[in-house]
Amino acid sequence: MTARILVVDDIPANVRLLEVRLLAEYFEVLTATNGPDAIETCENGKVDVVLLDVMMPDMDGFEVCRRLKSDPATSHIPVVMITALDQVSDRVRGLEAGADDFLTKPVNDLQLMTRVKSLVRLKSLTDELRLRASTTRNIGIEELLSRNFASEDTTPKVLLIDERKSSVERIQKMLRDRADLDVTHDPHAGFFQAAETSYECVMISTAFADFDPLRLCSQLRSLDRTRFVPIILLAEEGEEERIIRGLELGINDYLMRPIDQQELTARLRTQVRRKRYNDQLRASVTQTIEMAVTDGLTGLHNRRYLDSHLQTLFDRAVARRRPLSVMITDLDRFKAINDAHGHDGGDEVLREFARRLRKNVRGIDLACRFGGEEFVVVMPDTEGAVAEKVAERIRAEIAQAAFAIGQDGKAIEVTVSVGVSSVLKGVDTVAALMKRADLALYEAKSGGRNRVVAKAA
Ligand SMILES: [Mg+2]
Repeated sequence: MTARILVVDDIPANVRLLEVRLLAEYFEVLTATNGPDAIETCENGKVDVVLLDVMMPDMDGFEVCRRLKSDPATSHIPVVMITALDQVSDRVRGLEAGADDFLTKPVNDLQLMTRVKSLVRLKSLTDELRLRASTTRNIGIEELLSRNFASEDTTPKVLLIDERKSSVERIQKMLRDRADLDVTHDPHAGFFQAAETSYECVMISTAFADFDPLRLCSQLRSLDRTRFVPIILLAEEGEEERIIRGLELGINDYLMRPIDQQELTARLRTQVRRKRYNDQLRASVTQTIEMAVTDGLTGLHNRRYLDSHLQTLFDRAVARRRPLSVMITDLDRFKAINDAHGHDGGDEVLREFARRLRKNVRGIDLACRFGGEEFVVVMPDTEGAVAEKVAERIRAEIAQAAFAIGQDGKAIEVTVSVGVSSVLKGVDTVAALMKRADLALYEAKSGGRNRVVAKAA
């Protein structure tokens, strides 16, 4: 795993110390000896993780972290604070400033590497989502990305898996009003519960009499539904090795008992914030993809989608020697409708047409708005004769009941012409198939409209 780590410390010897150890693990290392330089480097370069000294003159680490986390351009870069003492108050202050993790000086080698690697993994996931979200810029993705994702107004839904009653009661008390907490004492039941409910964090105690908590962590990481749920391990003093194994397995954070309330709530908040950020990125990627292949007016697929899928459906039909038919429909005298009722009226007609069209095709059929008032339906596993019947049903459905448009529900008579073609046995191509449907449509138009013409296959 290669990644670029920025080391920030006001004492050059400290910088050098970390640099050497990171270089030995083949990380790329950038350095800074004060806050403003560190911020500039983050803004300009591709930094994957920041290792940030807390105690620095002028601008301390807390302030640097706060600034990085409040700028949308740098807020997604993980920050590890390095404190001189293992002070809970420092850690809490850092988490309040948005830090993702902590290390204490002198820095333990194993901890340094596992923490950095785990954050690099997380960062690369976030980067991929950011990249995919910004690839399509047509729908205000920039705005989505720059929005403050860290909405903390809703109480996070959290699962605690811990078999000790006294510990559960303490944590329940600490998180009252701060989390919507479910509890289970049994790790097996906990696994199923985590898979069935969408939690924003799962906290797992290491103190089971007869069960390996890391097994549960690895099960949660291997299941699709729980792969991205943050896991916080609640560990005992002296369990460092287990924690490091846990970090390698993909746990996100840990707390040492006795648990400090402020630290618990701060760490929980950090995990939930990151999960919400990534969830929203993922949703915006999905939305971008959907919008790129959907016709905004009718909700049907668009021409781009048809162009990229028709060939696949065609090839599959040919390979399996299965029939495939297409129909091209075109609303009759649509220009007259637009002229008489305006473009809003025309849009309403198109939407209503799409609704009736969708009602008459199957789920496996591919219905698209081809452009203007032209629609295409691709019907896999459908012989020409059947496709012709479907086309006739659609034609009748359009002609038999007037379209109601506008506030007053003005009735408009609408008719449609349809051309149908099917894949020929022997040599055929997508272009020829579409050409035949187009010719059939032309015949339907010139033959008087409101009719179906099929090109015999
Ligand atoms: Mg210092």
